[in-house]
Amino acid sequence: MSLPAGGVANPGGGAAAPGGSSSFLSMWRELLPIGRHRGSGGYRRYAWTGADVDCRAWFRTQAEARGLAYEVDRNGNQWAWLGDPLAGDAVVTGSHLDSVPDGGAFDGPLGVVSSFAALDELRRRGVEFTRPLAIGNFGDEEGARFGLACVGSRLAAGQLTVEAAHRLRDGDGITLPQAMEAAGYDPDTIGPDPERLARIGAFVELHVEQGRALDLTGDPVGIASAIWPHGRWRFDFRGEANHAGTTRLADRRDPMLTYAETVLAARREAELAGALATFGKIAVEPNGVNAIPSLVRGWLDSRAADQDRLDAVVTGIERAAREHAERAGIDLDVVRESFTPVVEFEHALRDELGKILAGRGDAGRTVPVLGTGAGHDAGILSASVPTAMLFVRNPTGVSHSPAEHAAEDDCVAGVVALADVLEGLACS
Ligand SMILES: [Zn+2]
Repeated sequence: MSLPAGGVANPGGGAAAPGGSSSFLSMWRELLPIGRHRGSGGYRRYAWTGADVDCRAWFRTQAEARGLAYEVDRNGNQWAWLGDPLAGDAVVTGSHLDSVPDGGAFDGPLGVVSSFAALDELRRRGVEFTRPLAIGNFGDEEGARFGLACVGSRLAAGQLTVEAAHRLRDGDGITLPQAMEAAGYDPDTIGPDPERLARIGAFVELHVEQGRALDLTGDPVGIASAIWPHGRWRFDFRGEANHAGTTRLADRRDPMLTYAETVLAARREAELAGALATFGKIAVEPNGVNAIPSLVRGWLDSRAADQDRLDAVVTGIERAAREHAERAGIDLDVVRESFTPVVEFEHALRDELGKILAGRGDAGRTVPVLGTGAGHDAGILSASVPTAMLFVRNPTGVSHSPAEHAAEDDCVAGVVALADVLEGLACS
């Protein structure tokens, strides 16, 4: 049976339903319409907008329906606690509810919904909790609105300064503090939260896979090994605005041409290095059909399995851009806007997850361990907290698109795997 992004045929019981699988379907159905764009079918759940606020209200409702202690931390991340939040050595699971522009239903929400469903499954099993358990929804993971990913976890982990956070602006010039305030949150408290992170003994994030590795191995669930180093670079190509109908080709200083050459160079460099490089966002001035642009601003996203390869790709792209710019009389500025080094998930926790999952279900089955090119809150938090990730199979590998997909059976397998892991970590 498949689980379309657009609806669930048989949603099962309500939020208080005891089984993880039926409560998963019920929650999934409730969340599906929020922030879904009618035209594209994709999600536009940008941080601190109405759709995000609605997702947050849904989170709070789920927490309260289960008798969990609900709180918002100083950076706007949401928490739902079973047990004493101050006791320490907590086991935390969760993910994010925001989306990229016209994103899929699964990236983020699958982890949050599965977390609540896994708790329902553990209650159905009647286990005794020996450690506090929390479910988290981390704010602004995708960075779609302010251009920086994982803002909520970065702030908590001290990887984004308060000053830098105050400088973040969306496309309409609204700052992050203004956006938080408009959504009903106090922006004056944002900043590092080491005491909170020190009370976490393990963080496990379940996420839809953003590639086809599990489809190729034939497994519904895998464990993450590492997140590739990745970053975002802004390329500003400046030329001269002029009339598209009267300016001879020979007289033009058209930055769009240099940008186009750079896009092709990015593809070549990535192919050579076995890495990834993408220009997925562009801003043009004056942005008129009949005007030669004065400015083309393109954002490069690049990722590779290791730092050397990533350096080689980005250096190669910049070199090519500068050569083309010089020939065409175009001024070029390149700014690195964000960077996340390679994240190796803690081996001890990763191995423990492997052992827990191997001891369940198909006895003796080894769960595949995979690297990923996608960034996650788990990657940010891994600098402060022992962290692990579970991936759920995505048969097409498509992500950040309305076509993003996971089969219902695989989602349920993910819930069971997460419940097994949480039971192994947090129960006697
Ligand atoms: Zn995600």
